[in-house]
Amino acid sequence: MIRKLVELALNGKAVFLRVDFNVPITNGKVTEPHRIDSALPTVRFILEQARKVIVASHLGRPDGKVVAKYSLAPVREHLQDSLNKPVVLAPDCIGPETERIVRADHNQIVLLENLRFHQEEEKNDREFSRALASLGEVYVNDAFGAAHRAHASISGMTAFFTVKAAGKLMQKELDYLGSILTAPDQPFVMVLGGAKVSDKIGVIKNLLPKLTALLIGGGMAYTFLKSQGIQVGRSLVEEDKLNVATELITEAARRGIKLVLPIDHITGDAEKGNPQPAEKHIARDRIGLDIGPKTAALFVEEIKKAKLVLWNGPVGLFEMAPYDQGSRTIAKSLAENHPRVTSVIAGGDTVAAVSAAGVAENVTHLSTGGGATLEFLEGRELPGVKALEDSP
Ligand code: AMP
Repeated sequence: MIRKLVELALNGKAVFLRVDFNVPITNGKVTEPHRIDSALPTVRFILEQARKVIVASHLGRPDGKVVAKYSLAPVREHLQDSLNKPVVLAPDCIGPETERIVRADHNQIVLLENLRFHQEEEKNDREFSRALASLGEVYVNDAFGAAHRAHASISGMTAFFTVKAAGKLMQKELDYLGSILTAPDQPFVMVLGGAKVSDKIGVIKNLLPKLTALLIGGGMAYTFLKSQGIQVGRSLVEEDKLNVATELITEAARRGIKLVLPIDHITGDAEKGNPQPAEKHIARDRIGLDIGPKTAALFVEEIKKAKLVLWNGPVGLFEMAPYDQGSRTIAKSLAENHPRVTSVIAGGDTVAAVSAAGVAENVTHLSTGGGATLEFLEGRELPGVKALEDSP
């Protein structure tokens, strides 16, 4: 059983809060604060109840060394502005100086420096876990985006706490994504896109039996189309996944699940320039970079009929106009049908596509996890979720 933050008695306690503040930073400024903002309700809730909060996160891949560009200093600034309360950045995540700062009564919000400045974090080292754990009396994990990592701050250190819980964001992710795994509302439609089939096979296999319709766009669609003998020109294809694609198409048909693949495309040249529409087949020297308008209309038809839509992976090269039109159409259709159709958006790129379409407020749930969300939807047990379970 996993306890919820609201069930804990936090009065007078020092709470160790693991968050996922792994956000893009440019010139010392946080440029995409979605992950920080998503954890603010948890931070605020703890601050209302507890004596202090010790906030810990990783940022980037400094590989166990102190790398200045991966300092959490810009995150401290954003957090302080958002909370409108002083946030102290400790110079490290463990050690005597950090302990002194954490213990000082007047420091109510302490942000620890990047956990991954120590290689022991990713190694799930026991002594490092013990040192981190010594900083707080209660453990709360709100870092769903990192829950698929068996690292010290996510897994190892929880052994040193008797009181631990899922933060509000973690809880929300577990509720939405958990209900997709256990009892998804029907009709249940999954929209898949993105570059690689290989990343999505596990999710397709696990969710296929629960689906009403599967809509495939993006780079991954071309492996499916090629497996059916359709010419895809120079589009992205994973040759070693052609057989899997055929198997999945057969399996969907056997189960009576509607599988919709692109019937038209927007193509580009080798430099991704000179956009042109194409029907079924793509010419030899062209690259399929977005679903075409007829395909988008088919997708919208299925979305309208759904009760629940899970979308993972943009259906085109959405970062580059005009190849963003397909993803835009899907995002808008989800917003138009919200809240009658529950829409769960999974993965950083897909969340970015929804934001770019200006409809982030009009979908049901934007999942903050990338790899963690996919692994969860594959039905795998996440180390960070397992670590929150009370021992029997
Ligand atoms: P993924 O991480 O696998 O979900 O892939 C997301 C990336 O796939 C985004 O950067 C998209 O721009 C890219 N993408 C989507 N469709 C295509 C396509 N048809 N060709 C090339 N890249 C694509």
